[in-house]
Amino acid sequence: MLKKKIFIFNKIPDAGLKMLESKYEFSKSPKGVEGILCLLTDKIDSKIMDQAGDQLKVISNYAVGYNNIDVESASKRNIMVTNTPGVLTNTVAEHAIGLILSIAQRIPEADRFVRAGKFKGWEPMLLLGADLRGKTLGIIGMGRIGQSVAKIAQSGFGMEIIYYDKFKNDKYKFAPIKKILKKADFISLHVPLLPSTRHLIGRKELGLMKKTACLINTSRGPVINEKALVKALRKKQIAGAALDVFENEPKLSPGLKKLDNIVLTPHIASASVETRDKMAVMAAQNLIDALEGKKPKNLVN
Ligand code: NAD
Repeated sequence: MLKKKIFIFNKIPDAGLKMLESKYEFSKSPKGVEGILCLLTDKIDSKIMDQAGDQLKVISNYAVGYNNIDVESASKRNIMVTNTPGVLTNTVAEHAIGLILSIAQRIPEADRFVRAGKFKGWEPMLLLGADLRGKTLGIIGMGRIGQSVAKIAQSGFGMEIIYYDKFKNDKYKFAPIKKILKKADFISLHVPLLPSTRHLIGRKELGLMKKTACLINTSRGPVINEKALVKALRKKQIAGAALDVFENEPKLSPGLKKLDNIVLTPHIASASVETRDKMAVMAAQNLIDALEGKKPKNLVN
């Protein structure tokens, strides 16, 4: 029997690829395929869908965020769109916590200091940072990842948690976004990128934050107006920022990497060996289910 054709934009871990290799023919282009497996860096618009053709049944995204896919166009064409929620929640939360610790205790800055040969001995005032215990963590977007960050920060570090989300969560204290900006010592962003969350944090919002506060972003770059952030950090309007995602990644806004009060990681919040394997298996299974006529578990449309 002729194997169904699929197109894989970029290599994913073997755990997922092996599941697909035996079942399908890997095509060299999207043309004529029934399934597409893509990364968050692959823009899947109506042009790609047209190029693929009417037989395209499923677009399986190797990510939980799916702002790279024109879901509306896919739905109009009866194409299923799937993502990989849940399996990466804890890994991303751990990375967000890592960024909070990095910026609070100035760990990357201290590492640069030692490597530059500037360490001349213990000093009472050397590279003073901030404690987490007793501080307020404001979470914007209290979904899977936001809740996981809240749990670690509250039980592990004794932080007070306030959050903003469209949906209420009984376990934590809700606050309007303005109050979070004014009150929190650390603000961690966990919303999806949507028209309503693009530039959610801009000049005005940064202006409401405490001078001692730090902003952490492991969601999507365009949630922050990066130009405004560079300005705010330069003027020491806020104390610091830690970013895993960027507005025009992999490009950085001018001035960003010259700042000392910022920690930068290259979109690796979900990048543990275990989690990337789980994401690969989930993305492959979503595609297989769709092509076998079953409803994939992680359908977003
Ligand atoms: P989720 O859907 O469980 O949580 C998102 C939360 O944001 C929901 O509770 C939702 O109600 C809330 N929300 C949506 N729009 C909002 C708005 N306008 N205002 C306030 N709240 C709003 O998703 P998740 O699994 O927690 O993932 C969150 C996001 O993190 C993903 O969409 C993705 O973009 C990003 N992410 C990044 C990485 C990384 O590598 N840096 C990895 C995984 C996920």
